[in-house]
Amino acid sequence: MTEGMTPEFQADPSPSLWQACVDDLARELPEQQFNTWIKPLSAQVSKDHQTVTIYVGNRFKLDWIRAQYAGRLTALLESLQGHPVKLELAITQRESGIRPTKASTPSSMDMPVTLAAVADESVANPFRSRLNSALNFDNLVEGTANRMARAAAMHVSGSPGHLYNPLFIYGGVGLGKTHLMHAIGNKLLADRPESKVLYIHAEQFVSDVVKAYQRKTFDEFKHHYHSLDLLLIDDVQFFANKDRTQEEFFNAFEALLAKKSHIVMTSDTYPKGLADIHERLVSRFDSGLTVAMEPPELEMRVAILINKAISEGSEMPEEVAFFVAKNVRSNVRELEGALRKILAYSRFNQKEISIQLARDALRDLLSIQNRQISVENIQKTVADYYKIKVADMYSKKRPASIARPRQIAMYLAKEMTQKSLPEIGELFGGRDHTTVLHAVRKIGAERQQMTELNQQLHVLEQTLKG
Ligand code: ADP
Ligand code: MG
Repeated sequence: MTEGMTPEFQADPSPSLWQACVDDLARELPEQQFNTWIKPLSAQVSKDHQTVTIYVGNRFKLDWIRAQYAGRLTALLESLQGHPVKLELAITQRESGIRPTKASTPSSMDMPVTLAAVADESVANPFRSRLNSALNFDNLVEGTANRMARAAAMHVSGSPGHLYNPLFIYGGVGLGKTHLMHAIGNKLLADRPESKVLYIHAEQFVSDVVKAYQRKTFDEFKHHYHSLDLLLIDDVQFFANKDRTQEEFFNAFEALLAKKSHIVMTSDTYPKGLADIHERLVSRFDSGLTVAMEPPELEMRVAILINKAISEGSEMPEEVAFFVAKNVRSNVRELEGALRKILAYSRFNQKEISIQLARDALRDLLSIQNRQISVENIQKTVADYYKIKVADMYSKKRPASIARPRQIAMYLAKEMTQKSLPEIGELFGGRDHTTVLHAVRKIGAERQQMTELNQQLHVLEQTLKG
């Protein structure tokens, strides 16, 4: 790409830089905080990359952003750029929503870029679906990790109200649950534009209930929810301990199923694993089809990277995609973040995308991983979790209460470090590499079948990643 560095990249470098910065914040901040303060922002980068101007909706928000986030934003932009950056804040003109007035736009600036998700509302259908039209089946890469969930979702969008009702999709963060929900809604609306579809995050549902309570508008609330053809409700674990919300959701649930409307839910755990949600609701959640979304395997991560690079107008060589996919394993959101960093880095430094460039661009990320995940660390974490002694990781003892955690630790060592099977065997008290291979295969296969084991592994993986 160096000689062929296209001029457009130089003309408009701001989307990647700003996007990369926002991606970092999305990982750092609680989702609600991110959605409220950071997501609505738009930014411009000056041609010389020295000044970044952020546009904020009003004075109050401007003061808040300055007080709470300006320092972090500057630091992130500087680390991405590799040189000092001046951060300026300006108020957006109301009517345009994003675009600043001419007067406030120095002529040296590029066009502003908005970050807000494209919430596309069908013109023919005045019903607000809150769907993001950018999330569809076409750009959701398929792999073993999401095959079941994707197939069920396709089926539901093709004939809602029939099989798999409700559809309950669960899995860890950043694995594509929200994407899949939007895909269902978008497909249904494309096929049947008159359908009443609503995508809502569980927290928003809670706040709708609270509002209905305060304003005594439960009739409207009920009418609204009970009239849907498809209700997509995201992250239902947020219903925990919210009794009134659970009751209203239960009512909506029964009403919708009775009229053969479809309900799709997501959660970070399987229904019976949900804490502080009424049993009658939990058993309803489980009464249709429950499917898991798993962390994507290596080849799927590679495919996702290559696809996303193309959709960003770049190309990522396969060997680079493999390098990144081997090092960024946790979830797709992380993978996207890594990709954005690499693209931004390549554009600003006007260098071709190579393994070396990826290594430089992801320096921070890689060093954190290398520091945290060692076989010793895995052994200790797993031993703590299953309440056995670390020494039992190397011992020859064979009771299942010890052998199994040991196999789990071997499996994690293979999944989360770059060590070879013989090296891992060595670190587990000089065991043969076939013993390690057996453990890796066994736990890997059982993980697909046994929900509880899968959950435990998720917890261990998250703990190890810190
Ligand atoms: P979750 O809701 O499970 O936390 P999201 O649906 O928000 O995860 O996914 C995180 C990001 O990863 C989104 O940008 C999404 O588009 C992307 N993503 C997830 N899975 C895939 C996939 N299989 N193919 C392409 N993009 C994906
Ligand atoms: Mg989500």
